[in-house]
Amino acid sequence: MTTTELIENYPGFPQGVTGDELSRLMEEQAKRFGLEVVPEHVVEVKLEGTKKIVKTEERSYLSQALIICTGTEYRKLGVPGEKEFAGKGVSYCATCDGAFFQDNQIVVVGGGDSALTEALYLTKFGKQVTIIHRRDALRGTKIYQEKVFTNPKIKLLWNSVIQEIKGDSIVKSIVVRNVNTGEVTEHQIDGVFLFVGLLPRTQFLKGLVDMDEEGYILTDQNGQTSVKGIFAAGDCRKKLVRQIATAVGDGATAACSSEKYLELKE
Ligand SMILES: Cc1cc2nc3c(=O)[nH]c(=O)nc-3n(C[C@H](O)[C@H](O)[C@H](O)COP(=O)(O)OP(=O)(O)OC[C@H]3O[C@@H](n4cnc5c(N)ncnc54)[C@H](O)[C@@H]3O)c2cc1C
Repeated sequence: MTTTELIENYPGFPQGVTGDELSRLMEEQAKRFGLEVVPEHVVEVKLEGTKKIVKTEERSYLSQALIICTGTEYRKLGVPGEKEFAGKGVSYCATCDGAFFQDNQIVVVGGGDSALTEALYLTKFGKQVTIIHRRDALRGTKIYQEKVFTNPKIKLLWNSVIQEIKGDSIVKSIVVRNVNTGEVTEHQIDGVFLFVGLLPRTQFLKGLVDMDEEGYILTDQNGQTSVKGIFAAGDCRKKLVRQIATAVGDGATAACSSEKYLELKE
């Protein structure tokens, strides 16, 4: 949420709200009711009877009930150069890095809503924004497609995939393959933004709670996972719509469910 520039579909904000501001307001409100935030990274969850041991890089926490809401992360392309040039011209967040590419040649990879909205946002900075898509039609919402097709700064490269990202200390070019003809071309560029899907951040729970084949956590309608006392909420859950409004709803459900679980245990 914090990396989304303008959120226009969250109730209560008729003019929209920045992801940063909405996050700040939610945190401030929750702190008024006793929320404590610990900036640590969870690496493992283990069971000790009915107790849950949450291990971070720094220490361990013992809890009776646990709500997992670790969201998703960007799917990687998995091509040579991607890892090497991450933060040096390869990015997964236009609002975080777009301003570094003033008057530059920018490439966006993907064809869904994220790719289209981020490409539109990047036209604020880039000289030209080229969207590379592996198919011959976009997947994103019609309104974003129309905006993309009519924006003079945006060019589309259809039926194409990036084969390699090249550079020295920073990105200098990409090698592109046409999936229909097999033709390989090299393009001089300054920045490449990758929006090829999302993956749940649930690796640290593998083998503990039931998940689908992609790693999304399976829950019942109360947010309960396959382990009693472990609940899941938000984007890391298997569900139809992944938005802030649905994540907030999941959070409220999981909080009430865990409260009930604790009451019944006592
Ligand atoms: C580009 C983009 C634009 C979007 N625009 C909109 C929009 O306009 N409107 C809308 O409603 N939705 C939008 N969404 C979707 C929305 O951001 C998500 O649905 C929402 O943020 C989900 O909330 P969440 O709390 O489940 O996960 P997140 O917001 O992803 O939060 C997960 C949190 O868990 C933390 N975390 C992860 N792993 C660990 C770990 N191991 N240990 C400790 N902490 C961890 C992360 O650091 C993060 O703080 C957009 C998404 C993207 C990618």
